[in-house]
Amino acid sequence: MNSGEKALVLFSGGQDSATCLAWALERFSAVETVAFDYGQRHKVELECREEFLAKVVEIKPEWKARLGPDHKLDLSVLGKISETSLTQEAEIALREDGLPNTFVPGRNLLFFTLAAAVAYRRQLRHLVGGMCETDFSGYPDCRDDTLKSLQVTLNLGMGSNCVVDTPLMWIDKASTWQMAADLGGGQLVDLIRTSTHTCYLGVRDQEHDWGFGCGHCPACDLRLTGYRKFVAVSRT
Ligand code: ZN
Repeated sequence: MNSGEKALVLFSGGQDSATCLAWALERFSAVETVAFDYGQRHKVELECREEFLAKVVEIKPEWKARLGPDHKLDLSVLGKISETSLTQEAEIALREDGLPNTFVPGRNLLFFTLAAAVAYRRQLRHLVGGMCETDFSGYPDCRDDTLKSLQVTLNLGMGSNCVVDTPLMWIDKASTWQMAADLGGGQLVDLIRTSTHTCYLGVRDQEHDWGFGCGHCPACDLRLTGYRKFVAVSRT
């Protein structure tokens, strides 16, 4: 599967980007990671990613050989221009237009532009992100069309030849768990279960079969529903 090419993974510490990291480690000869700290209410996601990075390389020796530096970029400016419940102390709710108030307008456009600049400097051709249209919450910057268009814009603007890879774009959460099982077996599924974070409320002291979280917020609901479906299908 190793293509001989190099990649930069937008790795937040959540389930989706963790699965994408394993996908990239299986496929590319060198893989680096980038995180954006934008004053999230929950530093817990950024803490989870340190633990995940340390442990994922123990699953396969070739993954250990391929994983390179981790880049962290301070994007606290986003917290200053976005009044949403991820960056401010407010309740998660749906806005009048149907989007959750966790929506930070255009966030992925900024993330990919900065990631492309890092990748350009590090000579990494592929940019890998866990965006998904299947379960998505209506975020327009997670759409396949948005990211395909962004790839063209980045290549025009930087005179580069980068590829935006979104391996989860058309699969649901149960299939995301299955992808992890296919890539790294039960060991990777367990690591994602215990060392990635999804819960909007930042709950880490309640453990369930699908991982840690409050079990009630929309993010927990999506994660637990997907996990139950994955377990049910893999048993049959
Ligand atoms: Zn939750």
